[in-house]
This record gives sequence, structure tokens and C-alpha cells, in this order.
Amino acid sequence: MFIAHLPAGYLITQLYLKRQCFSFAEQHRAWLVGVGLFASVLPDVDLLYFYWFDQRQHNHHSYWTHTPVFWLAIFLLPCVVVWITKQKLLLTTIVVLLMNVMLHLLLDSIAAEILWLYPVVKQSFGLVEVPAQFAWWPLNFLLHWSFMLEVLIVGTALYQLKRQYSLKYQTVNIQS
Ligand SMILES: [Zn+2]
Repeated sequence: MFIAHLPAGYLITQLYLKRQCFSFAEQHRAWLVGVGLFASVLPDVDLLYFYWFDQRQHNHHSYWTHTPVFWLAIFLLPCVVVWITKQKLLLTTIVVLLMNVMLHLLLDSIAAEILWLYPVVKQSFGLVEVPAQFAWWPLNFLLHWSFMLEVLIVGTALYQLKRQYSLKYQTVNIQS
């Protein structure tokens, strides 16, 4: 996935915060959206290793940073501890982090393969295989039908962003 991770992260975080039973102050909502955006691209930090150290020897989707069990192991225990201590901002921060990382892996598994059941099953799973038709590899993805899904996600996020800002602008006008 090329362009839709951040917009998808924005959408799922906004949706989650809207459905939350907790209410947060404006600056805490902004923090949580920021955390969501950060986590929506976090697994791709492995591209630095892929280009600088691994010399593009292995597909970066096979690294531990693209393996669900790694993120579950990191976030699940803190999530339970914070849930017991009932710190709502910290709990929501961890849930938003985990949710966005998992969404990243889910979206990646449309046109790439992810080790969803590792270490139980060492086979990776993906929805479609993008055929390598062009020498410049990004073109294979940009001209594949799955890229339309990315365009749809970006469009939905832009619409949602515009809607939210016009609502906020109306509220400010009513208050002043
Ligand atoms: Zn990725």
C-alpha cells in the first residue's frame, strides 16, 4: 500500500474516538489522532533497514515489524495493565496504537503477504498477487485495481477532514 495508510489511520482513529464511551478534552483528542497517524505508518519504519542495511535482499513485509504477533506481544500486556489501573487516556493511546498498526498490516495484506498466524503457521497470507509487468516496480501497484481502493480511502479521509473542519468553523462562529 502506497498512499492510504495515513488516511486510513485518520479515519479509523476518528471513528474509534467517536464511538468511545470516554470523552476527551480537545488537546487529548488531538494527541490521540496524532498517535493514530504515527502508528498507521509505524511498521514501515523497517524500510530504513530494507534500503540501508539489508540491501533489498528480503521483502520488508517478512520482517518482524510486519508480523502481527510482535505488536501484540509489545502492546497487549501494557493494555491489560492500564485497563486494570483505569487510566483512560493511556489506555486509549495504547488501543489507538495497536489498532492502527493492525490496520496497517491488514491493508498491506491486500497486495502483499503478511505472516498473520506466525509463529503457529509459518505461511504468509495476502489477498491478491500483483503481477510484475513493468520494470519500474511502483507502476505495477499504481496500475493494479487494488490502487483504486487506496484512492477511495484517500477521498473518504479528505471528505471527512473537510466535514470536520467546517463543523468546527461553524461551532466557533456560533460561539463568537
Ligand atoms: Zn507496511
